[in-house]
Amino acid sequence: MRFHVMTLFPEMILQGLNTSIIGKAIQKKAIEVEAINIRDYTTEKHGQVDDYPYGGGAGMVMQAEPIYRAWESIVTRLGKSPKVIYMTPQGSVFHQEMAKEFAQEEDLIILCGHYEGVDERVLDKIVTHHVSIGDYVLTGGELPAMVMIDCISRMVKGVLSNEKSAESESFQEGLLEYPQYTRPEEFMGMRVPEVLLSGHHANIEQWRREQALKRTQERRPDLLPDIE
Ligand code: SAM
Repeated sequence: MRFHVMTLFPEMILQGLNTSIIGKAIQKKAIEVEAINIRDYTTEKHGQVDDYPYGGGAGMVMQAEPIYRAWESIVTRLGKSPKVIYMTPQGSVFHQEMAKEFAQEEDLIILCGHYEGVDERVLDKIVTHHVSIGDYVLTGGELPAMVMIDCISRMVKGVLSNEKSAESESFQEGLLEYPQYTRPEEFMGMRVPEVLLSGHHANIEQWRREQALKRTQERRPDLLPDIE
């Protein structure tokens, strides 16, 4: 799977994703991440890519032209027109099911806004999905893009060394995950639940399911109506 990120801060994307599991996935080519610098596509002198908003108001707005040209160069190079996701607090809130759907794509283009946002006309022209990572406002779309790339990549074959771990996690079955424990068996007087030491797989499964339900009920009861 290939992610093509259009941004004014490519180093943020490349540095942010080159560590740990995602960094290794890039190294072994399970995924590819390229950061396209929108500034390379401006025709204005001094590399200008933003301007004052028509109608007045605070801040600067990213101009349509360089974004359009950057997008055009990607689709021309690829010879096809993949989905284009604009990271915006005005979008549908990202969730695990959305990640699963995006993970089916071979290529995804992600547009990161900055400052006050992006000229609406280029959004109308190229964007297929408006996605938010939550109801709060950040300074730019780079962190949201990284959040999404991390989550989608975990569902791409070859990224996780143990693919089973993605199957049993929070949200995967509409529930939060059960509590996890590792060695030692006792920590500050607290013992690991006996059932986990029993080696009895059916009992362990049942305990985990009960714990997942209990935890979801306590912490995220809003998720439960979806469960049978
Ligand atoms: N003026 C815009 C508004 O009120 O909707 C907010 C602009 S924000 C300061 C700058 C950029 O950060 C946005 O264009 C978007 O790309 C990104 N951004 C900020 N918060 C975000 C969020 N919660 N989810 C996704 N992207 C976000």
